[in-house]
Amino acid sequence: RQADLDAELVQPCISQDGVQVSLQINADLELGSGRLQRAGLAGVGLLRTEALFMSFNHFPTELQQERFYRQLLSQAAGKPVVIRTLDVGGDKPLPYLPIREENPFLGWRGVRLSLDHPELFLGQLRALVRADQGLNNLQIMVPMISHLDEIRQCRRLLSRTVQELTEELAQPVRTPPLGIMVEVPAAVLQLSNWLSEIDFVSVGSNDLTQYLLAVDRNNAQVGEQYDPYHPAVLSALEMVARQCPVEKLSLCGELASELPGALMLLSLGYRRLSMNVNALGAIHYLIRHLDFAQLSALRQALLSAEDSKTVHRLLQAQLHQPA
Ligand code: PEP
Ligand code: MG
Repeated sequence: RQADLDAELVQPCISQDGVQVSLQINADLELGSGRLQRAGLAGVGLLRTEALFMSFNHFPTELQQERFYRQLLSQAAGKPVVIRTLDVGGDKPLPYLPIREENPFLGWRGVRLSLDHPELFLGQLRALVRADQGLNNLQIMVPMISHLDEIRQCRRLLSRTVQELTEELAQPVRTPPLGIMVEVPAAVLQLSNWLSEIDFVSVGSNDLTQYLLAVDRNNAQVGEQYDPYHPAVLSALEMVARQCPVEKLSLCGELASELPGALMLLSLGYRRLSMNVNALGAIHYLIRHLDFAQLSALRQALLSAEDSKTVHRLLQAQLHQPA
């Protein structure tokens, strides 16, 4: 299977009718040797830094972080690596930062915690920007954004970091692109007002589904209610795609790792998807055998589907169509 994946990935990711799609991987601690250099792979779309922080029993120092980020950025040299700032809280606790809350998913997590602890956040930003020097492939992404002011505060802290490092290193320092995760419904509704202040957007469909449907993503009791094919999720995904220029837009939730999910996203206009390495071969194959001209009818049908059963049926019908 590894051999199949490698054989698939040497091909560029272009559909039957010439539409190019960027496929990226989600990762946490390692990227897999050599894979990033394959033509069919467009870099790392989500590097979760929680695993790094969990591998220590204290907050990793700036230098410890820098070494780690530098290694990842060099493994992917020449291709973009989107590194997400710390997203603890919610379902991702840190043993050395106990947080006790009634509703952790609605509580102190992601960017909220980072902005309340600027010394920790600045340490991470400094490590990231230092690691990128000379490699120039870093993109920084911030999770759980729900207010414009959070974007502005992050931007200010990033500018300050670059300015301080320029003085300390006595040489020009690159400001990496700064993007946000769209995973809170407020972000879907406000995106067009925020776009001029961000360089890119990545939809986190895992949290977006949870927050749109008010269903805990990890609670088996309501597992059947957690449904990223719910027409409300579909319509939120469509709203995001409609507001955001395609070159700024990507999605990194689990949805992109499923064949029907990827097909749904492609038909809604998404052209950059980040996913599990395990899903990469199948999605790459799907895209190379797709005729995007057929997707506009599918899109229309999906947008008028009244329940997720209909959404599934439409997607399955398209997936099983003879090429
Ligand atoms: C998401 O919410 O879709 C996402 C990609 O982030 P995480 O799963 O790490 O919350
Ligand atoms: Mg998330």
